[in-house]
Amino acid sequence: MRTIALINQKGGVGKTTTAVNLGACLADLGKKVVLIDIDPQGNSSSWMGVDINELHKSMFNVFHDNLPIKEILHETSIENMWVVPSNVTLAAIERTLANKLENDTILKKSISPLINKFDYIILDCPPSLGLLTVNALSAVREVIIPLETKVLALNGLVTLLNTVNLVKDTLNSSLEVTGIIACMFDVRTNLSNKVVEKIKEKFHDKLFKSIIRESTQLAECPISSLPITRYAPDSRGTQDYMDLAREVVEGEKEVARYYEEDEAETSRHFDEESKEVDQQDDNDEDEIDQHSGEVESEASWQSGEEKNEADQRFGEGEKEE
Ligand code: ATP
Ligand code: MG
Repeated sequence: MRTIALINQKGGVGKTTTAVNLGACLADLGKKVVLIDIDPQGNSSSWMGVDINELHKSMFNVFHDNLPIKEILHETSIENMWVVPSNVTLAAIERTLANKLENDTILKKSISPLINKFDYIILDCPPSLGLLTVNALSAVREVIIPLETKVLALNGLVTLLNTVNLVKDTLNSSLEVTGIIACMFDVRTNLSNKVVEKIKEKFHDKLFKSIIRESTQLAECPISSLPITRYAPDSRGTQDYMDLAREVVEGEKEVARYYEEDEAETSRHFDEESKEVDQQDDNDEDEIDQHSGEVESEASWQSGEEKNEADQRFGEGEKEE
């Protein structure tokens, strides 16, 4: 399973257009996809058919009340694709969480039960590098950067990469930039070509080969509540996002090794933590042993029953996986 955040602090560069259409193309390629909208604008939620003004529960409750994400998974018109919606209520979350401890890893904890239940978790992020985006960077293994090719905005890209590195150094050592997507490529002007050349020069193979051309149908399709593959199946938008999805899928082998390393690391941590807990249990039992007669047997019996109960719960949890 891959976890990908679509990030660019600049507004209107194609994050949402890419989240929805890449997600839908991956779903058409047979991948199970969940699109998590963490932008208070709720653009990808409404694009996928959710009425964001009528939402009773949304990503706000995940951040604010630790609501399990699975309770707000919405089916979409696309087979294999689900959306987890947001709306304007999420706008207040940065202030609300400002003083909460570990406020930058809430999303990481909340998506962990989804791990390995889907093939792709895609996060559509807001146009800022605030707490919501930092939560996304802490929660995922991969960053993909949609870049508008109608202007050369290298400074913004450098700021973004610095933020990614900062999060990698402090909160999430497995974070990697998988690639940059050239979006809104204007075939009629030379500027788009120049921007693409510059990005290639600076970031070499990080630029995806697939380029998303500017297209009227792509601009129109959010109103239809359909991804481009359903709104205009024969359009250049469908062609470009299908090419991108195939390229992303081709990259699976390359990134699989890192995910395996992550999993090995996580289970190592788990083993170490279990050993610590076992050690603690042994110490507790030794302490109990020091008590006399009746009290001793009662305490041992209780701890045995509790252990069985815990084992049962753990077993049920495993079965759910
Ligand atoms: P925000 O930062 O506000 O969330 P964003 O980065 O998610 O914006 P989008 O909403 O995907 O950007 O795109 C911005 C605008 O550009 C939208 O109106 C969208 O329809 C349009 N757009 C995106 N990609 C294309 C394209 N390839 N061709 C034409 N229009 C496009
Ligand atoms: Mg957006």
